[in-house]
Amino acid sequence: METSKREPLLRELKNYLIHLKDQGYTEIPCEADWFANVQQGTAPQELHSSLSPNEMVSKNNKSLTAVQTELGDCTRCKLSEGRKNIVFGSGNPNADLVFVGEGPGADEDEQGFPFVGRAGKKLTEIIEKGMSLNREKDTYICNIVKCRPPGNRDPEADEISACKPFLIQQLKAIKPKVIVALGKPAASTLLGRNVPITKERGTWHEYEGIKLMLTYHPAYLIRFPTLENRKAVHEDIKKVLKELKK
Ligand code: SF4
Repeated sequence: METSKREPLLRELKNYLIHLKDQGYTEIPCEADWFANVQQGTAPQELHSSLSPNEMVSKNNKSLTAVQTELGDCTRCKLSEGRKNIVFGSGNPNADLVFVGEGPGADEDEQGFPFVGRAGKKLTEIIEKGMSLNREKDTYICNIVKCRPPGNRDPEADEISACKPFLIQQLKAIKPKVIVALGKPAASTLLGRNVPITKERGTWHEYEGIKLMLTYHPAYLIRFPTLENRKAVHEDIKKVLKELKK
């Protein structure tokens, strides 16, 4: 690129970075290609247009990709020993609705994606038939621990506390309107206390300023498919839909 063209561009870049710093942004994840394009003079002239709001990262708040990179090939707890895949999460990183489950099962461990087994089918049914939403486009789904607990046991306290910082960062990155905690371990982890789920399901709570609904885990519905349980989840998701439409 000619020096005469490069200087104003660099000036604009510098001013824009100062502006971002003033706003509290501390990092900007950027594709390597972008820098290559700058050098070749093919980068967009309008700097703002090359950065989507999702790519701008505010103080203490990373993008989902940055959170996943930090998690890496994690061995922070003993669940790493028996896992095949880390199940980070899936769906729309800008979703208004996030479902938080307990931990991956055998199918999830095998495929590396959350809720892909029988409970996953049930959750998809709840989202797509019960809520008329699209699972991949309208929601993001993750778990409180990213590796499969052996024999599908509940995650233990030390495993939850090792993995929880990544769940917190995921939720901070997504900033949904509503979080739905699926089952007791997810509800207890997010609320930081022992939650009696049969008593408290269907009630609204708050997690870091985000509305939090508690409901049964889809696996519970498979195990106990009573009319009463199905009706309960139906009522809970109706409340969530109403909140999303506000
Ligand atoms: Fe790391 Fe979480 Fe897996 Fe433990 S469960 S090894 S903290 S990713």
